[in-house]
Amino acid sequence: MQESAALLYEHEVSTEEPPSTWGRVPATAPAPAPARHLQDLASLPTWEDWHWQMRQRLRTLADLKKVLPAVEVPVDLEKAATAFPMAITPYYASLIRDADFRDPVFRMSVPDAAELWDSPFLADDPLEEEHDMPVPGLVHRYGDRALLVSTSRCAMYCRHCTRKRVAGVKESCLSGAQLEEAIAYLREHPEIHDVIISGGDPFTMPTAGLERILAAIRSVPTVDIIRIGTRTPVTLPMRITPELTRMIRKYHPVWVNTHFNHPNEITPRAAQACAQLVDAGIPMGNQTVLLRGINDNPQTMEQLCRGLVRMRVRPYYLFQCDLVRGVEHFRTPLSRGIEIMEYLRGRLSGLAIPVFVVDAPGGGGKIPVLPNYVVSTSPTHTVLRNFEGMLVSYPEPFAPEHRAASGAPGQPAAPTVWDLSAGKAKTIRPERVQRHDRREKMQVIPGQAGAAGSAMLAAMSCPDAEFS
Ligand code: SF4
Repeated sequence: MQESAALLYEHEVSTEEPPSTWGRVPATAPAPAPARHLQDLASLPTWEDWHWQMRQRLRTLADLKKVLPAVEVPVDLEKAATAFPMAITPYYASLIRDADFRDPVFRMSVPDAAELWDSPFLADDPLEEEHDMPVPGLVHRYGDRALLVSTSRCAMYCRHCTRKRVAGVKESCLSGAQLEEAIAYLREHPEIHDVIISGGDPFTMPTAGLERILAAIRSVPTVDIIRIGTRTPVTLPMRITPELTRMIRKYHPVWVNTHFNHPNEITPRAAQACAQLVDAGIPMGNQTVLLRGINDNPQTMEQLCRGLVRMRVRPYYLFQCDLVRGVEHFRTPLSRGIEIMEYLRGRLSGLAIPVFVVDAPGGGGKIPVLPNYVVSTSPTHTVLRNFEGMLVSYPEPFAPEHRAASGAPGQPAAPTVWDLSAGKAKTIRPERVQRHDRREKMQVIPGQAGAAGSAMLAAMSCPDAEFS
């Protein structure tokens, strides 16, 4: 009986190439030469100066037209650029191969009239970060981790950004007083062992300003690791200077998470920037966002993951696109992400496969979503499915008493999932959830935390000069 079921299943699950509707990704072709104007810029000695790149960012559609004269700018594009800020470094613009929305780099960086249409499910702050912000700029959601929003400035404003309400709205950074307040909170909460410096993009801050933040966090003895979230290896790789890596090394262990979304972003220059960071002892991870029309097919994702590990960057998360206002056109069905994960498993080493997660609306945190590999369970055996669709039986521990959970010393064993299946227990409930307790203390009423973005933007009260 089991054998015939397995056979049937093998017929139903194709192990061949994915459906043709996903389209084919052409074998990586050499990038065409950038537009003439960009070629001229790239030959300037200042091209490698990250300050110059920041000053030369394309901030308006008129700027864009200067470097890509073929771009059409209908009036709705202007409106989208007004609604959500635009900035593209000359370097990132040079990765555009076709000046229209079929090009992934163009689509991720150029305002689109589609940003002006929202479905009813979208919000400015769908992750409710403002609700989990006990002091300005510091998000404390998970027990052992906190996230510090250091600046609202980025090298490039991604059209799919989760923090569209903050990023680039007013380019500024955390003031010295606000940093002190955040550090005092970390001292009062020794359970926080991991601090993520985020933004905006922390690497757009002057090195001395970033060092001030790193030194302050490192002065808290209970903080073990510091992580920095930055997209500059992708959008501004010249920012990774020897001066920057020398500075970061003083505060180890420091990890960097970056954000490559498409193989076209993996260039020799980006690889050089990643190598500089990794060679300085900084482990690198990558967080990709699943984006319709950009990377929502398995072959593109495979190329991306392979390219990342070649650069010694570990694919860490694949995020389902958040429910943020202005990004409806980037959203894919959740099932698309699951199909992609199914495709990657068995084709790539585990090291190259990210975890697919949904950041739950309402501040519920990251929820991993996997293809279902558990077909059925019983007290004695569990039936599992492998990446080819083959079903296998896994025997559980032989002695019945070994199948029950062992309680902590002196404590009765907690009920297990099997107890639920066998009707021996009705529920397994988490004990008091610390995040809820914190919210109660902050007296946050869901949906009434003030205008979304206000608390975070208020935290960004200081021009970057204070950190220089
Ligand atoms: S670099 Fe990050 S914070 Fe900045 S716009 Fe892109 S996704 Fe948003």
